[in-house]
Amino acid sequence: MNEAKETFRELNESFTTKEAIDEAKRCLNCKNPSCKKGCPIENDIPGFIHQLSMGNMGDAMRIINEKSNLPAICGRVCPHEKQCQGHCVLYAKGKGIQIGKLERFIADFDTEMSLIREKLPQKTRGKVAVIGSGPAGLTVAGDLARQGFSVTIFEGQSEAGGVLMYGIPEYRLPKAVVAKEIEKIEALGVNFVLNCLVGKDITVDQMFEQGYDAIFIGTGTALPKSLDIPGNKLRGIIQSSYLLHMVNIFNQNIVERNAVPLKEGDRVAVIGCGNVAMDAARTAVRMGAASVHVIYHRTEAEMSAIPSEYQDAVKEGVQFLWQTSTQEFLGDDEGKVIGLRAATPEGIRDFTFDRVLLAIGSRPANRIVSTTTGIEVDDTGYVIVKDRPYGMTTRRGVFAGGDVVHRPHTVVLAMKAAKQVAAGIAQYVDAVKLLEE
Ligand SMILES: Cc1cc2nc3c(=O)[nH]c(=O)nc-3n(C[C@H](O)[C@H](O)[C@H](O)COP(=O)(O)OP(=O)(O)OC[C@H]3O[C@@H](n4cnc5c(N)ncnc54)[C@H](O)[C@@H]3O)c2cc1C
Repeated sequence: MNEAKETFRELNESFTTKEAIDEAKRCLNCKNPSCKKGCPIENDIPGFIHQLSMGNMGDAMRIINEKSNLPAICGRVCPHEKQCQGHCVLYAKGKGIQIGKLERFIADFDTEMSLIREKLPQKTRGKVAVIGSGPAGLTVAGDLARQGFSVTIFEGQSEAGGVLMYGIPEYRLPKAVVAKEIEKIEALGVNFVLNCLVGKDITVDQMFEQGYDAIFIGTGTALPKSLDIPGNKLRGIIQSSYLLHMVNIFNQNIVERNAVPLKEGDRVAVIGCGNVAMDAARTAVRMGAASVHVIYHRTEAEMSAIPSEYQDAVKEGVQFLWQTSTQEFLGDDEGKVIGLRAATPEGIRDFTFDRVLLAIGSRPANRIVSTTTGIEVDDTGYVIVKDRPYGMTTRRGVFAGGDVVHRPHTVVLAMKAAKQVAAGIAQYVDAVKLLEE
């Protein structure tokens, strides 16, 4: 592994078996477990921890599988301090059970040992197409395959996983872990069609013609927002999502170092202060930036990045300019960015930068809705869905869920929505088949 790739090694170490069991034994197995209430998908946390505390890895994994298709991922990237862990009764005393790390331990153990062989039903209940293979699409596919539906995922990229594969950096979520979780979903009998952009290579109408009973749209928010200020077309101003994508495929040896749009020694500005901005800033540090400044128009208290991500960025040398509002990008005669002008608490100031990364949000692309009749979206492009059957769009048989409906959130919230939509799809297909009979 070369030096740049070495810096992307996973940061948080796994428990050893002894450490995991010792940690599990600390769980009070509360009668009314608040950790479970803190988990958006209501994982039976005390249940799996109790099995682990007795060394029953298979039973622990079986309990997790009842609610989650992606535990090795949730165990790593969920905001545990806000969810399960933050709700643990021991948390207030500073001794909360490290639930995320335990979930990750069990999931990794299962992957390594192939503990679980599920008995799968025949796929006779109906045929479902899933568009997009992020956490929403993978969850719908896994849940429906387990219930006897034949499911095919159509994914525009050359690898499945969505943001898990191309967005979240390797040091927080190794791509080998994502690939293994996807293999487990494949093992449930889910088919994958990669490099297939729906709306271009195939349309929703053509999918119905191919005999799909229902279609799920889980396409996320692929369009990053840009800043509408002077100089925004200068070379060197790029989207953070593009940098993260290129670095992820560089780490997977798909492209060379020079394809990554950031040179060693660059002075980098990141505009925005959410979790994507933290990932972009920390990735820029790892790629050898000379300095990285996060520029945010509000105060530290108002940032949307989770505290642990922010603290890690600070530890790695990222600097923060609060209440600094970019007004104009500055360029040289050749159209390359050389800095920016911003309003700061001390007045208007110019800053010198070689590279500017934007991380100010994203919204859904309209490739599918513009090539399909009857799918209504709101003013900002988010798909409108109903409660009955849960998740159905204004077009019969077409469902949607995850970020493309509820705006960019978290992996587990995309999974939560997807689980509810999977139930809605099952009800809908069953009802249609009953009427046909
Ligand atoms: C950089 C970054 C870091 C993040 N970090 C975290 C974190 O640490 N913890 C956390 O919980 N959340 C995190 N999130 C948020 C989380 O990743 C998303 O909320 C989640 O991935 C949304 O899932 P989804 O399935 O709705 O969409 P996505 O993950 O965006 O997946 C959509 C999929 O659809 C595919 N697609 C799109 N259009 C088409 C089409 N027309 N045809 C075929 N396929 C298509 C895309 O290629 C993609 O694979 C992060 C997000 C980003 C961008």
